[in-house]
Amino acid sequence: MNAPLNPAGTESGEGARSLSGKALAASLREGTRAAVEAAPEAGRVPKLAVVTATDDESSAWYVRSLVSAAGKSGLLHEVVHLGPRASTEEVRDALRGLDEDTSVDGVILQTPLPAGVDARALAEAVPPAKDIDGANPLSLGRLAAGLAAFAPATAEAVIALLDHYEIPLRGARAVVVGRSTVVGKPLAHLLLARDATVTVCHSRTRDLPEVTREADILIAAAGQPGLLTAEHVRPGAIVIDVGTNPTPDGGLTGDVAPGAARVAGALSPVPGGVGPVTTAVLLAHVVRAAREAGIREGLRG
Ligand code: NDP
Repeated sequence: MNAPLNPAGTESGEGARSLSGKALAASLREGTRAAVEAAPEAGRVPKLAVVTATDDESSAWYVRSLVSAAGKSGLLHEVVHLGPRASTEEVRDALRGLDEDTSVDGVILQTPLPAGVDARALAEAVPPAKDIDGANPLSLGRLAAGLAAFAPATAEAVIALLDHYEIPLRGARAVVVGRSTVVGKPLAHLLLARDATVTVCHSRTRDLPEVTREADILIAAAGQPGLLTAEHVRPGAIVIDVGTNPTPDGGLTGDVAPGAARVAGALSPVPGGVGPVTTAVLLAHVVRAAREAGIREGLRG
C-alpha cells in the first residue's frame, strides 16, 4: 500500500481539511473578467449562449445563476428558451443557428431535455468548437485520445481544485465513483492524462469500500447522498465530493457522509467545493473558445 498523500497544511488528528472552492472560483472569475476587459482590443466581447427546453425550476435557477455570473464577468450572454414541448428538430435548429452565429463563442445545451427528443443526436449537434461543457461525444473522444478538447466543466473543476491545493496527481491512486459521460468518464481521462493510476467504480462494482479504500484521491460522483462513509475512506485520503443532491429543506448535500471527515485527510464541502469552481471553469471556457475562434479567423484571413 502507498503511504497516504498529505495535502499541504493537513495535520493528523484534526479531522479533514476543508477544500473550499470559493477562493479558486473567485480567482478564475477574476481571470475571466480581466480577459474580457482586454477583449474589445481584440475585436469583440466573448459570448455565452444557453439553449433550454424545459420548465424545470432547478434548471431555470441554474441558468439564471450562470447567466448572472457571466454578466458579472463582463461576458455577453443569450438564453434561447424553447419550452418543454420542443422537438428534436427545433432544438437542433437552435443549435445550428448558434453554430453559424459568429458572435457566439460558447454553447450549452441545458438538461433536462423534453421527453421523447433524441438526446444523443442533440449532444452531437452541439458545435464542437463552441462545446464549452464537453457535451458532444466528439469532445469526450478527443479527451480520451489526449487531443485538445473542452472537458465537461465539472470534471475540469475537480482537477483545478486538486491543483489549487497542490495535491500531487502523478502516480497517485485515484478512484472515481461514477461513470457518467458528464463527470466520471471525462474525469478518469483527465486524471490519466496527469499520470494518476485510475479506477472507475459504478453501481455494479463489487465490494465498493474495498476498492475505494485503495484511493489516495477518492472522487464521489454518484448522485447518492451519503454513499461514501468512513469505511470507504483510507485514513488521510483526499476526498472530492462532486455530488449535489437536493435536501428536503431546499439545500444541497453531497455523496460523502459527514463521518468520512473523521478519516479523510481533506474533503471538499457541498455546497462550496466543486460547484463554484465548475461555474468559473465554464466562463473561462467561453473566453478560451473566443480566443481559439480568433486564431482560426486569423489563419483564414
Ligand atoms: P449520473 O446519474 O449520470 O451517474 C451516476 C453514476 O454513479 C453512474 O455511473 C452510476 O453507476 C454511479 N452510481 C450510482 N449509484 C451508485 C452506487 N450505489 N455505487 C456505485 N456507483 C453508483 O450522475 P452525474 O454523473 O450526472 O452526476 C453525479 C453527481 O454529480 C450528481 O449528484 C450530480 O448532481 C452531481 N453533479 C455536480 C455538478 C457540479 O457542478 N458540482 C455538475 C454535474 C453533476 P451506473 O453507471 O452503473 O448506473
